[in-house]
Amino acid sequence: MKVHLITSSLDGEVVKSDLFDNVLSFLQQSSGPIQFIPAWQAHPHLLDTPSFSIQRPVEIKASFKIEKEVARPTKTNFFTRSIAHVKDFLEQKGEINDTKEELPKAPPAEERFSPWVYFFEICAMYRMRNEIPDEDHVFLLTALANDKNWFGSIGPSGRDYFVHTANWEYFLKDTDSRFPIAYEVVVWLLRHQMFSSRVEMMNGIHATPRGCANDFCQDKQQIQLKMRTGDVCSTCLNILQVKGREPLIIAQIMDVFERVRLNVLFRERAAILKRPSRLEVRGFTRKLFFTDLGNLEVSLNPKEKTIFLFFLNHPEGVLLSHMVDHRSELEQLYSFFSNTSGGGQRISEAIDLLVNPTEGNLQQVLSRIKRKLESNLGVELAKHYLISGPHGEPKRIAIDREFVTYNI
Ligand SMILES: [Zn+2]
Repeated sequence: MKVHLITSSLDGEVVKSDLFDNVLSFLQQSSGPIQFIPAWQAHPHLLDTPSFSIQRPVEIKASFKIEKEVARPTKTNFFTRSIAHVKDFLEQKGEINDTKEELPKAPPAEERFSPWVYFFEICAMYRMRNEIPDEDHVFLLTALANDKNWFGSIGPSGRDYFVHTANWEYFLKDTDSRFPIAYEVVVWLLRHQMFSSRVEMMNGIHATPRGCANDFCQDKQQIQLKMRTGDVCSTCLNILQVKGREPLIIAQIMDVFERVRLNVLFRERAAILKRPSRLEVRGFTRKLFFTDLGNLEVSLNPKEKTIFLFFLNHPEGVLLSHMVDHRSELEQLYSFFSNTSGGGQRISEAIDLLVNPTEGNLQQVLSRIKRKLESNLGVELAKHYLISGPHGEPKRIAIDREFVTYNI
């Protein structure tokens, strides 16, 4: 089963390449029959900015608290009550202060949006131009909002979709956008598995949130609940069972839910628990996996990986000006990861460049590693793994090495 991820090339619609890559690699880390295929601006569409896209004001809803006096109970006896309606039995009665969680930041004054049909046209055009088989799925990731203000939706073809990639910072605290976007992609794949028509789908998704992937989330902040549970409710599981869908596809979708859940919870708790994620260095090519973040992989290029693993091997820290003393260790690591033609000579030159303090090459590599770690782990959590230290003193990675395992 092939799932093509595309984005428009137009300003205001394009998804930044970092974010696109992060969503893609997060999805690709799930194993199973679903293949996620990128088409990052490879086939920009030629539609002009649509004339029906207009500015609209965003409503700001004030929340009011009504304080009521509570009457003291006057009777000391307890009574038996008859249960006339199911509702009487199910409902917990009482007044609660239904204070809405505050938005992490004030909403924008306006936003550009377009009707859904525009997004599905882009998918259709992509299909036509690239001769995508009918059975493949096409997702347009777009920074442009839509007229119904949904996170995403499925088109009339049943295999075209869009997912809105912007504004997550208004609904979720401290969450990297890649997680809700990846979550939305697989939610729509799940719905495709469950429902055969739009009517069936609208009947099947839940108006009242129950922590299921099929919660409608009329209040957009409710998406937090289903991302934190990473669950599919028993009603929905029954539908899947009755329809007899491919279990491996469902398992792969559930795996993405689970990894999103782990990431959301771990990040939320990181500030309180002050606990880093375990890091596993895995396999012959020494890939880096953050175990407690749902096995999130941070991909470094050969040079970055050489430097990162070198510092991981030196918990005591190393002065940048002394890197030249460790030339042979660096060369050995680098030759491991780089498959450059030209072999020894090229490797030797690359290391020369790296250890020569006047070249600034090492600084560039260090700042690229920092950027990648922060973009993948968030600024707070990344601190444990950064190669850092006061000016003129040895640089080191702070993480307690008990959190690091080598599985090679
Ligand atoms: Zn459900």
